[in-house]
Amino acid sequence: MRQGQPSVQTPQLDGRTVIVTGGGSGIGAATARLAARRGAAVGVADIDRASAEEVRDEIVAAGGTAAALSVDVSQEADVARMIAETAEALGPVTGLVNNAGVIVTRALVDTTVEDWDRCLQVNARGAFLGCKHLVRHAREHGLGAAIVNTGSISALAGQDGQAAYAASKGAIVQLTRQIAGEHAAEGIRCNSVGPGSVRSAVLDSFLGSQEDPAAAEQTLAATHPVGRIGDPEEVAAAMCFLLADEASFITGANLQVDGGYTAV
Ligand code: ADP
Repeated sequence: MRQGQPSVQTPQLDGRTVIVTGGGSGIGAATARLAARRGAAVGVADIDRASAEEVRDEIVAAGGTAAALSVDVSQEADVARMIAETAEALGPVTGLVNNAGVIVTRALVDTTVEDWDRCLQVNARGAFLGCKHLVRHAREHGLGAAIVNTGSISALAGQDGQAAYAASKGAIVQLTRQIAGEHAAEGIRCNSVGPGSVRSAVLDSFLGSQEDPAAAEQTLAATHPVGRIGDPEEVAAAMCFLLADEASFITGANLQVDGGYTAV
């Protein structure tokens, strides 16, 4: 990848093919839309094919370039196929946002082995497989690449009922550093973005599991120094910055986009 030049313009993604997993909703959908607006051809990948197609259609209707892919990121063959199909449709892949995720909110003593495995398989194994196959793909094509993994406030700070989720997100943040070090010389950057509480299907399912969802939202908002929950677009901006050449000297970083949650 060429080196970024300091610029007063928005970091652009022209000429890049970027895959966003979990691209059918929330942070992933916002990232897919923003990457397309900044010039990337976007592979919108999700286990829920219909939602991926919806986001693809929105991008195309707005004049962008996108393809919809169905993938279970916990399955290695699926992940390899996702990258191959995207490259075939849109050109060699030089950006990947490993964002697909599931959340389990349960007290440690009630967390089942199935809860634990599901969280680790989708979140941590999914990111591992995405990184592994994107590095292989970049090598095959002799290209650099930028990977962004979705971390969380839960990767850095304890929260009630997040044993499995926190472990999976902590794994992602450390995996990110590991990959950054191992592949920097090949022009492959790997960073993570750690969202605070952001309006999304994951958050809605957490709030819905609480006795009083509105009160739970208020409590959650108050834990962020900015006093509110974030928007997916605010996280997407960080994702797209780290994908762009303007971030060419940034690798192994974990950028918290959490309204100050982990600062206090
Ligand atoms: P966020 O806003 O944090 O991205 P969402 O719940 O809105 O949270 O998005 C998570 C996305 O990940 C959903 O679109 C969901 O369908 C997708 N997803 C969940 N599990 C998998 C999986 N195993 N493979 C691919 N995508 C998945």
